[in-house]
Amino acid sequence: MADLHIVNYPHPALRWKSKPIKSISPELRNTVRSMFDLMYEARGIGLAANQVALPYRLFVINLTADPNDTEEEFVFINPEITKRKGTAEGEEGCLSLPQLYGDVKRSEEITLEAYDLDGQLFEITLDDLAARAVQHEHDHLEGIMFPDRMVEAKRIELDAQIADFESEFRHQQDRGEYPPDEEIRKQLAQLELDLD
Ligand code: ZN
Repeated sequence: MADLHIVNYPHPALRWKSKPIKSISPELRNTVRSMFDLMYEARGIGLAANQVALPYRLFVINLTADPNDTEEEFVFINPEITKRKGTAEGEEGCLSLPQLYGDVKRSEEITLEAYDLDGQLFEITLDDLAARAVQHEHDHLEGIMFPDRMVEAKRIELDAQIADFESEFRHQQDRGEYPPDEEIRKQLAQLELDLD
């Protein structure tokens, strides 16, 4: 799993519905470590596997964004939101849409179940920023990005910037930095098979 990097919209991995992880291998542990490193480098608080072009149900979070604060590192494998309460609106950004920000309505409090890196199932109830970050990352596993959740009138204001990301990615494909979408989708499907 060498050469992981964060991909920007509209890389097809960001529109991929990821598959559950079946076992925790040393390779997966390395992937998780790389994801934390990439997240810190980009000064983010959360990163989903889709954002490093891996079609797996996994995301990492450290709300402090501080690489030295390893106690605040959380890994969520095959997460499922089991309970939601209330609504809260707040501003979000995304490492796959750098410099883009918008208000998104989320559940105020959520309960979720997930596996940790030791393969232990845990349940946790979160609110505030933690609840927002987890819902944002969980959306990534479904191929959903935060502008999809914005009210139309506000999202329209971001459309020009989103179009810029689109043309930048197409240029990168033209230059051969990324293969065509169809090829990327084949690679993602192949990576899913590696889960078996
Ligand atoms: Zn994101």
